[in-house]
Amino acid sequence: MLPGPIQIRKCKVCKDLFKLKSNTSGFSSGARLWSDGAIHNSTLTRAPVFYKCQKCGNVGPISETDLVDSYQSYFGFFAIVDPSRFESESFKKRSVEQRYESVRMVQRPSVNEVLNYVNGMLSAVEQKKLELVLRLEAWRFGNDAWRVDSASCHRSSQEIINMHAILMLTDDVRLFERVWRVEILRELAEFDEAKQELSLCILLESNHKYLDMQAELISNRTSELKLI
Ligand SMILES: [Zn+2]
Repeated sequence: MLPGPIQIRKCKVCKDLFKLKSNTSGFSSGARLWSDGAIHNSTLTRAPVFYKCQKCGNVGPISETDLVDSYQSYFGFFAIVDPSRFESESFKKRSVEQRYESVRMVQRPSVNEVLNYVNGMLSAVEQKKLELVLRLEAWRFGNDAWRVDSASCHRSSQEIINMHAILMLTDDVRLFERVWRVEILRELAEFDEAKQELSLCILLESNHKYLDMQAELISNRTSELKLI
């Protein structure tokens, strides 16, 4: 991933503006994949999924906020191969940057603030898919502290409730959801259940590197997050 444009977005509730550093997608030699599916880059922080408004305190997904403007923060190779486009983009960068000079960078909410938001959502049928996406994000967001220092971490009761809610929401046969069930059960140190869940995944797909790794972690009875 390379640094993408700086986005100017507005709070869904009070319309106050905030800045967001985005990453362009693509291959990155420094990207690291974790056992819970989170991808982190060694040089760039993961783009935040949730925001907390610094004016009204609203917490919600950034994907639900409107994009007001954006400018390039990194020109890289194309500054050399396309000088005229570089000229116009860098002019735009200067003028947009000035216009939004006083706008603050996005504030990340705490794990519990994210969970409060997710718990407050309606559990109507059409919201189920969104609820799962948000709960998975909240789980990985909470896991970020473990990636830094697993020895001094503990999960709050809210986080454990969230993990059980994911297990409830993924109680079907799709493989890509079953693998998160294995990981969550293992992180909760429910190794027998994790092993049983893993056997269902193996029936669906054999000789898979990720599933082999899970089998080893479960047999070693380790609940730690692992780099793949
Ligand atoms: Zn606001």
